[in-house]
This record gives sequence, C-alpha cells and structure tokens, in this order.
Amino acid sequence: MESEVLIIGGGAAGLMCAIVAGRRGRRVRVLEHANRCGKKILMSGGGRCNFTNTGTTPANFLSANPHFCKSALARYTPAHFIEMVEQHDIAYHEKELGQLFCDDSSKQIVKMLLDECAAAGVRIDVSCSVERIEASADGYALHTTLGKMRAPSLVIASGGLSIPSMGATGFGYEIARQFGHEVLPTRAGLVPLTLTGRPLAELADLSGVSLPVAAHCGKTSFRNAMLITHRGLSGPSILQISSYWQPGQALHLDLLPGQDALEFLSQQQRDRSAAELKTVLGDALPKRFAQRLCEIAFANRPMRQFTPAEIRQMAQRLAHWPVVASGTEGYRTAEVTLGGVDTDELSSTTMESKLAKGLYFIGEVVDVTGWLGGYNFQWAWASGHAAGLAA
Ligand SMILES: Cc1cc2nc3c(=O)[nH]c(=O)nc-3n(C[C@H](O)[C@H](O)[C@H](O)COP(=O)(O)OP(=O)(O)OC[C@H]3O[C@@H](n4cnc5c(N)ncnc54)[C@H](O)[C@@H]3O)c2cc1C
Repeated sequence: MESEVLIIGGGAAGLMCAIVAGRRGRRVRVLEHANRCGKKILMSGGGRCNFTNTGTTPANFLSANPHFCKSALARYTPAHFIEMVEQHDIAYHEKELGQLFCDDSSKQIVKMLLDECAAAGVRIDVSCSVERIEASADGYALHTTLGKMRAPSLVIASGGLSIPSMGATGFGYEIARQFGHEVLPTRAGLVPLTLTGRPLAELADLSGVSLPVAAHCGKTSFRNAMLITHRGLSGPSILQISSYWQPGQALHLDLLPGQDALEFLSQQQRDRSAAELKTVLGDALPKRFAQRLCEIAFANRPMRQFTPAEIRQMAQRLAHWPVVASGTEGYRTAEVTLGGVDTDELSSTTMESKLAKGLYFIGEVVDVTGWLGGYNFQWAWASGHAAGLAA
C-alpha cells in the first residue's frame, strides 16, 4: 500500500512526527539510513537521555527568527512528553535546572517511541538511503535503495551535521536548497572550545580540573561548571557559550561567579594578611588552578604586601579572565548544529514549506537550536508534533 506520509530520518523529530501522523490514521513510512533508529537518543545525556527541560521557553533557543519556535513549543510542552514517559513506566529524575533524565537508560526512550510507532501503524525501514527526490503531480517521488516510493507529504527529519560517525549528513540542507529554500550558514554548537599556543600550554597539564565559572560572550553569559581538557575548555558553561561565540569574538570568564572578587580579596587581606595569595585563592578555586594563576598571572606574596591598586587589578582579572579560543572541536564532538533551513519560508504552526506544498522540515535541520539541558529534544518533539498534525 502506498504511503501518505514519508518521513526521512528516524531520529527524535521523525519518530514523534510519525507517531502523531499515524495516530491520525495516516499511512506513515519512516526511512532511516542507519541500521537502527534513534542513535543520537541512545548516546544522549551520557546514556540516560536528558529528554526534556521543564523550564523550556522560547528564550532557550537560538534562531534568526526567535519567534518561530513559539507556536510549536506552546502546543507540545514538556508536560506532554512527560505524560508519555510516565505512561510507559519509565523512571526519571531531575538533575538540575529542570533537566529530566531517565533513571536507567536512553534505550527506554527509543523503545517507547518505537512502541508508539508500532501502535500507530507506522512502517519503519532502516538501512534505507534516499538517493533522489522529485516533485510529482501528486506529491513527491523518492528513489531509494529499497526502490521508488511516492507520497503526497514528505517530512525531512534528517537532523544536523553533528557527530558524522552517527550518520549525520547534510542531506536535509540539500533537499531544502533543491526546493528553493534558503539555508542559513551552519556551524557547530554546544561544543568544546580549543586553545593553542601559550594559553593551551599554560593549562593543558591541568586537564580534568573543573571549576564553576560564569562564561561571558557579548551580552550572554552562563554560570555553570567549566572543565579544562587537553585541547582547551569544555563543561556546561563552555558548551552553552560556544553556541553564542563566533571565531575572533572576545570571551571572558568570571572565575569567582556569584562573588565580588574585590570584596573577597580585600576581606582576605584584612583577615589573613600573612597568608600567601595562592593559599587564599586555593580556598576559593581548585588548588592546582589557583597555583597556576599565581605562576602565570599574579605574583604570589603574602596578602599584606599587595597595594590597593594591585588588589583591584587582581580582582578585575579574576572577574574578567580573557579566553582567546582558537576555535571549536567542530562537528566531531558538537551536540548540535546551529543555523540550517531558514524559518522565514516555513509555517511556524505546521513546519510546512511555504514554497513546496506537502514538504515539511522538523528538528535540528531547521534553524532553531536549543541550549544544553534537554531543550533540543523538546524542540524535536514539538516540531515533530506540529508537522505530525498536518502532514
Ligand atoms: C552526544 C550528544 C548528546 C546529546 N544529548 C542531548 C540531550 O541529552 N538532550 C537534548 O535535548 N539533546 C541532546 N543532544 C541533541 C539531540 O540529540 C538532537 O538535537 C536531536 O537528536 C535532533 O533530533 P532530529 O530528529 O532533528 O535529528 P536526529 O536525532 O539526529 O535524527 C536524524 C536521523 O536522520 C537520519 N538521517 C540522516 N540523513 C539521512 C538520510 N539521507 N536518509 C535517511 N536518514 C537519514 C540519521 O541517521 C538520524 O537517525 C545530543 C546530541 C549529541 C550529539
């Protein structure tokens, strides 16, 4: 039997779209080129899938049009997904900041989605590559490794470019261009930053040291942990700010987030005048990191020997530690792809193309990218749901 809805990509967005369209009684077929569906779900959240964030708002997303995501997010909320998770008896917990993770394994989320697809009568073909797509009088004709297929509705849910080893391709962008869509420049997001030369040499042997910071880029900042790696900087605060950073742009860290560095140093000078700076900093920062600051940036002397001007300078440095990143680790380790199919030519209520009737784009392929913390899956579920109601 011919399909009514063909979905390219059996990831988070594609499977949600399939479930919703299938429940409406549409004949749905999902084409996935990898040997199984949902590989990124499986590897997500360290194997426990941070499947949503209870605090999701449109402000947690980057897009050339910040309004585009509003309608879909409002109609399919974290509570809707949590309801499905609970119906399937999947135990979960909140880690921090509204982030929900499975207690056990991401496999449960993939199984839930596949079970729901089966219940909705969705047909799924894995190891199926789409070679070519043509518009036809009654919809779309696909040339695939499983033969020719046709359907009036075609949903592109093929994801972004991150983690090519997991099956990521630029396929969705090519199809968008084929049908006249603008594709906004893509780049790696939620990705570690790399350092080179002296900044790297100064920190590389501290690889594994983690500390809370506030990472600032322009008007944006994220307060969370930072991890020093043998290539540069990572950890949640750095991954978050990486999505806002462009090569060459200034970045700085507040190394004593939530504290006034000047007040802290002045107080320490009063209370512990004989203590050396590295001891004082070592009580507020990881000891090896504090020691390193005293080798590369500050003179290590008893606190009483610093002049008020020196204390002010040190405080300024601790609150605005400059980071000269040489780049990012790129798509190899990025969690997401920024940019993508321009939302100007998509309907925000249905995700349908305004240029090609019956063609839909959902999930990460679209120029909507979430912060770290379950927001990207929430966008995948919400955009998949929106298209599933219409396709
Ligand atoms: C390591 C890692 C951890 C992550 N952890 C989290 C997390 O905990 N929480 C969170 O919210 N987000 C997380 N993300 C981001 C999240 O995984 C993505 O935003 C989300 O999967 C996007 O959903 P999607 O359906 O658009 O794309 P995907 O889930 O990537 O699915 C796209 C599917 O399309 C298939 N495909 C591609 N090209 C073709 C083609 N030509 N033909 C057929 N099939 C094709 C792919 O194989 C894939 O199965 C993580 C990402 C990574 C890389």
